[in-house]
Amino acid sequence: MYSIASLYTIYKKSSGVSTDTRKIGEGDLFFALKGPNFNANSFAAKALEMGASAVVIDEEAFEVEGDDRYVLVKNVLEALQKLANYHRKQLDIPFLAITGSNGKTTTKELVNAVLSKKFKTYATVGNLNNHIGVPLTLLAMDEQTEMGIVEMGANKIGDIAELCEIAEPTHGLITNIGRAHLEGFGGYEGVLRAKTELYQYLISRKGKIFVNSQNPVLANMIKRMDDPVTYPAKGDFFHCELLEANPFVNFRTADRTEYKTKMLGAYNFENIATALTVGKFFGLAEKVAAEAVSQYVPGNMRSQLIEKRSNLIVLDAYNANPSSMEQAIRTFGRMTGKPHKMVILGDMYELGDNAAEEHKKLGEWVSEYDIEKVCFTGELTQNALLKAPRALYFPDPFSLRNWLADSQLEDHLILIKGSRGMKLEGLVEFI
Ligand code: ATP
Ligand code: MG
Repeated sequence: MYSIASLYTIYKKSSGVSTDTRKIGEGDLFFALKGPNFNANSFAAKALEMGASAVVIDEEAFEVEGDDRYVLVKNVLEALQKLANYHRKQLDIPFLAITGSNGKTTTKELVNAVLSKKFKTYATVGNLNNHIGVPLTLLAMDEQTEMGIVEMGANKIGDIAELCEIAEPTHGLITNIGRAHLEGFGGYEGVLRAKTELYQYLISRKGKIFVNSQNPVLANMIKRMDDPVTYPAKGDFFHCELLEANPFVNFRTADRTEYKTKMLGAYNFENIATALTVGKFFGLAEKVAAEAVSQYVPGNMRSQLIEKRSNLIVLDAYNANPSSMEQAIRTFGRMTGKPHKMVILGDMYELGDNAAEEHKKLGEWVSEYDIEKVCFTGELTQNALLKAPRALYFPDPFSLRNWLADSQLEDHLILIKGSRGMKLEGLVEFI
């Protein structure tokens, strides 16, 4: 069996780390993880064939006698996490952890856009925010990295505490605490406990915490902190204000300079203010940070704007939970600019026993606005129909495709939002 120190030597000689034989790079160190439906130990030989420099496995049966490219450990996932932590300890740089129910990736991208104006940053790629993604994020950093920005996601109590032990953040923030992944947490109280694990970790290590003082749930916890970095109210460490979000966020900094952004919806003001606060804390000039934020264009499927003939589509199909749905519907409800409006809302997953109740609210929210066409798709959204009886219902996105193709919509503002599993982005080509 290998020690972590000797595994570290192998890692240092490799060109990168991989857990997926389909994406393996020449000279990568391959970790043969196990999932519910696969055992990558059986891909070890294939990984070597495809260019891996070594493979970390935990089943002796797959080892090839005399071939020292096979690294046998007790548990591959544990080895990956321990190696990542070992590596992290060698990097004497600030690590900012970002967690919360909604807006983690957006905030991470904005923070990175700001901090990279001054530092050589490394931030989580995409949404690699779990017990595998966080170690991979850490292992992708090197001696040149001056600042680590790590997104942390949670499905249950204890997840964030575990990720903190691996990443050892020195700084951290919670975007907000809402009603996401209720299933695994046993309700909202559980979510609250799980998300604040980051605060607990940072308080115990004398780390720095950034807190949105206008978020009542988070502000309530300020008194337990030593010297929190607050924003965005007057008198806070960093102050800025939302001017409008119609539909794009425009904001003003304390010196009364106004900035326009390409970010949709008032909720993005929170994400922007967070990024500017972190920037100020790490010594960036306010103007440089604000300009980085103004130029930022949201990436794939997170409030992405798509023009299709005379229609303007707000594609927010990356994910959905009750809080982000409410924000998205209310933002869209207030949007203007085209003669017609339509929403396409799909199922929200992982809500457990609350699913029916939470979906009913979709019907209530859309009914508060003047939206000409309301389409629900997916089994769970049947509950929404109870509160929005005039809506159109499609059992699955496939049946909706045909309707869209036949309708040949023109001059519509269209919001598309649903859980990842609904893959609603597939509808765009039928509009
Ligand atoms: P995931 O749990 O999938 O990693 P995330 O927390 O990284 O999600 P993002 O991917 O940044 O969140 O954003 C997902 C959606 O959440 C956005 O498209 C938007 O609808 C909503 N959202 C973003 N920021 C906020 C916010 N500050 N408050 C509420 N909702 C938000
Ligand atoms: Mg994310």
